[in-house]
Amino acid sequence: MPERERIYLSPPHMGGREMEYIQEAFDTNWIAPLGPHVENFERECAEAAGVKAALALVSGTAAVHLAAKALDIKPGDLFFCSSLTFVASLAPLVQMGGVPVFIDSDPDSWNISPQALERAFRDAESSGQKPKAVILVNLYGQPCDMDQILPLCGERGVPVIEDAAESAGSLYKGRPTGSFGAFGFYSFNGNKIITTSGGGMLLSDDEEAIAKARFRSTQAREKAPWYQHSELGYNFRMSNILAGIGRAQLKLLEDRVARRRAIFDRYRKGLGDLPGISFMPESPHSRSNRWLTTLTVDPGLAGTTNLKIMDALARENIESRSVWKPMHLQPVFMGAKYYEHDGDQSRRLFENGLCLPSGSNLSLEDQALVIRLVRGAIR
Ligand SMILES: *Cc1c(COP(=O)(O)O)cnc(C)c1O
Repeated sequence: MPERERIYLSPPHMGGREMEYIQEAFDTNWIAPLGPHVENFERECAEAAGVKAALALVSGTAAVHLAAKALDIKPGDLFFCSSLTFVASLAPLVQMGGVPVFIDSDPDSWNISPQALERAFRDAESSGQKPKAVILVNLYGQPCDMDQILPLCGERGVPVIEDAAESAGSLYKGRPTGSFGAFGFYSFNGNKIITTSGGGMLLSDDEEAIAKARFRSTQAREKAPWYQHSELGYNFRMSNILAGIGRAQLKLLEDRVARRRAIFDRYRKGLGDLPGISFMPESPHSRSNRWLTTLTVDPGLAGTTNLKIMDALARENIESRSVWKPMHLQPVFMGAKYYEHDGDQSRRLFENGLCLPSGSNLSLEDQALVIRLVRGAIR
């Protein structure tokens, strides 16, 4: 029997029509620069997110960069960010000289804790400081509790960047994530729920701000018969070929959400009875895309650890991963301020957390195997 193929955490899942779009780009020689797929993909993403404007970029990180530029992050400016996230949520702001203050997770959502955020605001106010931005992350597809968080920022006039890199297709009170902040963005990195092989989309209702970001994303070239620059920009635009892949993928988004949610439900059915296993809860009023099925393993009850389960899966050529290591525990952010929820929740989620293979193309047999192996590791 041929050896079983490796089971990946979240591999690309092509639908089959991507090649038609790529072929169209070749047939019309719209290989570069930009082209109709880029324009259409922007329009289609803006529609899907329910925002007025969108800008297709080389990555989600480039979108963070342009959002930070739009909010005029300068050396010494404070900003608040969930600690439990991927470093790309905030790296560009730090590279611009911004000073991060990290906020713990609420264990009910794993997302930014409203009570810790409020304390951070009050402390900043009493020392006469005001953050320049708040970065909200919809972790593993779970929408933040917008009704609690947005007023805290809005009352103080602090703009929000909504990191929807992992949450394309997720809804909060029926409204798509990516649309809640001054800026939002999706990532189309290879491991995300839909992919262009690599890419990102900056989203906003502020059409002027998107126009300015578009200008900056193409080297800040001014309208003139020659190359003229009054400021420095970036080379951040998505290619027309990749936008073609994105257009085909976007049409499949609802199907991919349904598949990932079904995978989550099967894991919960297959593992939910085990001692010490708790799945990431789903917040009320929201539909997570369940990008990755994540759970925590309480070693006292399970008799094993998340890392031992990862090892057991790795021995069978199955990829799994720990939960993001919080930013306040990263060597690069040593000494940064951190506001706990009630005890350090993000540290606990990191220390016990586990992400299981969750690709929308994961077969029933492969998932059954993962479930069997996890059960075997716990008993
Ligand atoms: C993937 C990801 C990003 C960055 O997106 P890229 O397209 O890889 O640059 C940012 N934030 C979070 C939470 C992510 O998971």
